[in-house]
Amino acid sequence: MQYNPYDNVIKTITNAAQVLGLDENDYIAILYPERELKVSFPVKMDDGTLRVFEGYRIQHSSLRGPCKGGVRFHQDVNSDEVKALAAWMSFKCAVVGIPYGGGKGGVKVDTTKLSKDEIERITRRYTSMILPFIGPEKDIPAPDVNTNAEVMGWMMDTYSMMQGYAVPGVVTGKPIEIGGSLGRGEATGRGVMISTREILKKLNIPFSKATVAIQGMGNVGGVSAKLISEQGAVVVAVSDVSGGIYNPEGLDVSDIRKYLSVRGNLLKDYTAPDIKQITNEELLRLPVDVLIPAAMENQLNAGNAGYIQAKVIVEGANGPTTVEADDILKSRGITLVPDILANAGGVVVSYFEWTQNIQALFWGEDEVNERLNRIMVNAIDEVFSLHKEKDITMRTSAYCLALQKIVTAEKLRGIFP
Ligand code: NAD
Repeated sequence: MQYNPYDNVIKTITNAAQVLGLDENDYIAILYPERELKVSFPVKMDDGTLRVFEGYRIQHSSLRGPCKGGVRFHQDVNSDEVKALAAWMSFKCAVVGIPYGGGKGGVKVDTTKLSKDEIERITRRYTSMILPFIGPEKDIPAPDVNTNAEVMGWMMDTYSMMQGYAVPGVVTGKPIEIGGSLGRGEATGRGVMISTREILKKLNIPFSKATVAIQGMGNVGGVSAKLISEQGAVVVAVSDVSGGIYNPEGLDVSDIRKYLSVRGNLLKDYTAPDIKQITNEELLRLPVDVLIPAAMENQLNAGNAGYIQAKVIVEGANGPTTVEADDILKSRGITLVPDILANAGGVVVSYFEWTQNIQALFWGEDEVNERLNRIMVNAIDEVFSLHKEKDITMRTSAYCLALQKIVTAEKLRGIFP
């Protein structure tokens, strides 16, 4: 059967609604995205030919504020994936208590086969196609898989050109020089590090001796690996799309990141003494204290959940665990910090960036990191307490807390007309 991440979303929301004892009327609207835009657009390639690309911008909910969520460039982007990613954003913003709803965008494209100029033209044309949907008070894009600060700069410029003046608050994750926030580049990984540190504290597992395996060495996985090793835990395995490497004594994360910054996604060719090459699947099954899936969806599934040996899973990626895998992990006593909490650091600092943009303020990096730490620690405390109090998984607990806030917003606003 084809895996559909939006089915996961519906099952998870429905489960949380049952735990909360909600009436179907209370949450039925939240099972559907508010708006879905699909676009097809031509782009002139470097060789003079025209190619048509498909893109999406989907807004799941604006009940708690403007929609917020990244833009993904990937060959597997499709409507159900973007719908799921948009819904996860609504719940993520609610669980950490920032005043946004959820949205997400994507373009179906394999960026490894394109030049930088082609990626820029795709970005600018995609931005112009979704332009009526986005804006600082409507829907604010940010980076996701295969998009970065440079892409956000092009999006901000395209939007600003159409308005006739600079609108920095239309996207977050921009370069600092044009309104980006200090600390945004590392924020998601920092949130994953804080989640790891806090959950280990709650489980009485010493952070300084903990062994950690991380799938994905991009913005989320790479920064998580860096900050987690800097804080003293032992990163023993990392991977990217090409494969992984393992050394039970620990890896030199800084050297690996240096290598990747030159070689791109080619971790399997990295060499160092005592390193064993492993597959992504082998990485997921390693005997470690903490496993951090930080790449794509559907990595922990019914096929491998029974073989996971980690004591704790901290979801850096969005949707890396299927509903079936969740049940298996729960029955095996593995604690899982869910994506909507563990990787919320990025959207929290995006919120700080937007706040600075609309007030024309600029915060120092220490202030950003300190505020992020406070929000993450509070959210983890709340989710962990409800998880213990009701004997539910941390995912169900996080969804209950978030769903309650979204449902309350809907009740307070009422149903139009
Ligand atoms: P990225 O493009 O910077 O990095 C993705 C990494 O995953 C790369 O190392 C890539 O080689 C690897 N990868 C891709 N496909 C893989 C596969 N099939 N198997 C193993 N590895 C694979 O992306 P990112 O921004 O780090 O995003 C990673 C995940 O985190 C996504 O689920 C994204 O939605 C989520 N996320 C990102 C942010 C953010 O601020 N960037 C915030 C929250 C959540």
